[in-house]
Amino acid sequence: MIDRMKIEAKLQGFGYGDFRWIKPEQIVVSQWVRFKCKFGCPSYGKKGTCPPSVPSLGECREFLNEYSAIVLIHFEIRFDDPKERYAWSRQENKKLLELEKKVFLDGNHKAFLLIMDECRLCNECSGSREACVNKIDARPSPESLGIDVFATVRNCGYSIDVLRDYSQKMDRYAILLID
Ligand code: SF4
Repeated sequence: MIDRMKIEAKLQGFGYGDFRWIKPEQIVVSQWVRFKCKFGCPSYGKKGTCPPSVPSLGECREFLNEYSAIVLIHFEIRFDDPKERYAWSRQENKKLLELEKKVFLDGNHKAFLLIMDECRLCNECSGSREACVNKIDARPSPESLGIDVFATVRNCGYSIDVLRDYSQKMDRYAILLID
């Protein structure tokens, strides 16, 4: 039995006050997400944590169903200079990895993080899972596992919209799978 209050205290300690406990059935996995990765995303085939270096949608769904204690973490931010978002996301995802590690070391052996952006741990990605230079820390994003972030966060009572330009506020979401 996981200690939710202890995990919530950890989240707060990392400065993550905006989160919700969610159920696996609230997470929507859809083919259209994988198609959007394949046709339209410049990172396709160029990242060690993005398609095609990821499991099939069926495997992703099966994997998510193995968890019942899941935290959805919301990030809300707006940048004057859109280029700043890369450094911000790298920094936040490193912090999230620290959180995952602490939750794991508390005895939650299944703890696994889905970061809120594509992996940006390196300035230049090696381009595949096999060639990844940081296999211990590299984590996939929800989208790269075929998660329909729009449907999922709306299922959980959060909002998200298509952004028309970089001056608009961004809503980003990470998922911490615990047990
Ligand atoms: S850790 Fe580096 S090489 Fe591995 S997926 Fe991330 S950016 Fe690419």
